[in-house]
Amino acid sequence: MSQDVTGAAADFPYFNDECSTSIPVSEARKVDDADAEAWDETCDVLVVGCGLAGTSAALRAAEDSTLSVLAVDRGEGGGASALSGGVLYLGGTRVQKECGVEDSAENMAAYLAHETGTLIRPETVRRFADQSASFIPWLETHGARFGGPLSEAKTSYPGTKFLYYSGNEKTLAARKLATPAPRGHRTLPANPADVTAMSGGELMRPLLASLTSKPNIRLSPHTTVRRLVVDGEGRVVGAEMWRLPAGPARKHRFLMRMGRNMMATILGAAARASRAATRIEHEQARLVRVRVRRGVVLSAGGFIFNPTMVANAAPKYVGVAGIGTIGDDGSGIKLGASVGGGTDRMNIVSAWRFLYPPATWVKGIAIGPDGRRIVNEEEYGARTGEAVFERNQGLGWVIVDRPLQESVEQDAKDPELLSFQKLTTKAALRLYTKAAPTLERLAEKIGVPADALVATVDAYNRSIRDGEPDAFAKSDASRKPIETGPFFATDISWKPKLNPISGVTMGGLTVNEETGAVLNADGREIAGLYAAGRNAVGLCSNFYVSGLSLADCVFSGWRAAESLKAR
Ligand SMILES: Cc1cc2nc3c(=O)[nH]c(=O)nc-3n(C[C@H](O)[C@H](O)[C@H](O)COP(=O)(O)OP(=O)(O)OC[C@H]3O[C@@H](n4cnc5c(N)ncnc54)[C@H](O)[C@@H]3O)c2cc1C
Repeated sequence: MSQDVTGAAADFPYFNDECSTSIPVSEARKVDDADAEAWDETCDVLVVGCGLAGTSAALRAAEDSTLSVLAVDRGEGGGASALSGGVLYLGGTRVQKECGVEDSAENMAAYLAHETGTLIRPETVRRFADQSASFIPWLETHGARFGGPLSEAKTSYPGTKFLYYSGNEKTLAARKLATPAPRGHRTLPANPADVTAMSGGELMRPLLASLTSKPNIRLSPHTTVRRLVVDGEGRVVGAEMWRLPAGPARKHRFLMRMGRNMMATILGAAARASRAATRIEHEQARLVRVRVRRGVVLSAGGFIFNPTMVANAAPKYVGVAGIGTIGDDGSGIKLGASVGGGTDRMNIVSAWRFLYPPATWVKGIAIGPDGRRIVNEEEYGARTGEAVFERNQGLGWVIVDRPLQESVEQDAKDPELLSFQKLTTKAALRLYTKAAPTLERLAEKIGVPADALVATVDAYNRSIRDGEPDAFAKSDASRKPIETGPFFATDISWKPKLNPISGVTMGGLTVNEETGAVLNADGREIAGLYAAGRNAVGLCSNFYVSGLSLADCVFSGWRAAESLKAR
C-alpha cells in the first residue's frame, strides 16, 4: 500500500491528545487507485462503533439486502448507550397516547427550538420531530419495548415509571412556546422485576442481538479502526482496523467488563482493568485492511474518557466525572478530522448537576462563589451544570432554611429512589452540607461574601412576598422564602467525590444536516464519510435534556444509512 498521507490531521488541534486508555489514530492514507491496492476484506458499508448510533445505522442500512455491512466495535458493542438510562426523547408517540398524553410533532419541535438554539436548522428539528414517533415501532421490531406508566413527579430518573418530563418542558419560558408534554421514553425491562435499574442495557441487548442475526451484517468485536484510506479525489475508500485474535479477545472482554463494573470502580480496580485492556489492544491486535465500496459511518462516541482532550478542548469542564466507556476517547472524531472533517461544540460538556431528587431543593436558591444566584433551580440538571462550569469556575451551593431542609430530608427517604440516587443524596446531606444560625455565618463557612448572600436571599424573599415574577423565571410552585434559621448550604460544585457532577461531551464532526455526510472546513461534503451519534454535531449538541442524545443517535444513524442506501 502507498504511504502518502493527506496531512489534514495537522489542522485538528486535538489530534495527538492521548491518554492511558485511548486508541491512537493515524493520519489518513492516500492511494491513487483503490482497486489496485491489496485489501484483506471488503464491504459496502463500514460502521465504526456499535453504540446506539452505529447499531441504528447498521440495522437501517441492512434493510437493503443487497448491501453488506461490516460493523466494528472496540468492545462487544453497546458503548455508553448500553450503560445509559435508556431514555429517548420522542413526541406524538403511541406510548404517550396510551398514557393519556396529548402531544404532536409540531408541539415538540416548538419546544425543542428552545434547546437547540441556532445550532440546528428549524427544518432539521422538525424532520426529527416528524420521525421520532416512528422510532418506537422500529426499535420494537428489533426487540426493544416501550410503554407506561407515566410519572408526573419532578425527577432526574423515574425509578418505576417509563414516561416522564425529562427536560425543561414545564418551565415558564418553555410554556410560552409549547404545551408541556412528557417525552422521556424509557426502555421497558425484559424482566419486569428490574424496573428500578438503568435501562440502557434493555435497549441495546435486543438491538445487538438483532444486528448479529442479520445475514448481511457482520459484527467484528474487539476491533478498532485507526486509520482511513482515501483515493486521489479525497473519497474515503477504505480503512485500517486492528482486530484481536480469539485468545486475547477473551481476556480483553473480561477486562473491558471489569472496567465498567460499578463495584470495581469504587474499589479502584476498574481503571487498572481498562489500562490492561488497552495494552492488549496495542500489543496483540492484528492489522486488517478493509475496502469500503459505499461509505464509512463514524459512530464511535464522544471523548469524555480522554482527559487530555477534555483539558484542551473543553478546559472549563476538567472537574466533570466522565461517564461512559473508554471507547469515548475521541478516536472517531479524529478519524473524521484526519480527512479534513470540521468540528463544532468541542468545548461543550453536558454536565449533570441535578437539584432533584430531593425535589425540595428546587425551592431554595443555587448560588455561585460571588454569593449571587446562578440559575432557575427547577430547570434540567444540565442547565445547573452549565451555570456552575461556564460562569462560576465549577463552584456552587444550594441554600435553604430549616423548614425546607426538613422537607429535603423527607424527600431523601423516598423508597422509589434508585440506589445511586440514594447514595449521592445521602452523601450530599451528610458530607457536603454546612449549617449556621445566620446567613452571615453560613457565608463565612462556605467562603462567599456575606453581604452578597444576604442581599441575594433578601431579593428572593421580597419578590415572593410582593408577588413579583422570579428573577430567573422560576414557577411559583417552586418558590419558598428562605427566612427561618438555621440556614443550610449544600456544595453543588464538581468537588464532592460521592456526589460528583457527571457528564458527556457534546461536540463532534460537522455534518450536512440532510445527509449526515461529514463536512470539511469549507462546508463541502467529504465523499464516502458520514458521522452519527456523539461523533457528530447533533440535536443535543447545543443543550442536552434527558433522552435527546439517544433519540439523536437513532435519527442520525438512520440518516447516514438512508444516504448510503440511496448512493
Ligand atoms: C450513565 C449514563 C446515562 C445516560 N443516560 C442517557 C439517557 O437516558 N438518554 C440519553 O439520550 N442519553 C443518555 N446518556 C448519554 C448517551 O448514552 C450517549 O450520549 C450516547 O449513548 C452516545 O451514543 P453513541 O452511539 O454515539 O456512542 P456509544 O454508545 O458510546 O458507542 C460508541 C461505540 O464505539 C466504539 N468505539 C470507539 N472508538 C472506536 C474505534 N476507534 N473503533 C471501533 N469502535 C470504536 C466503542 O467501543 C462504543 O461501543 C447517558 C450516558 C451515560 C454514560
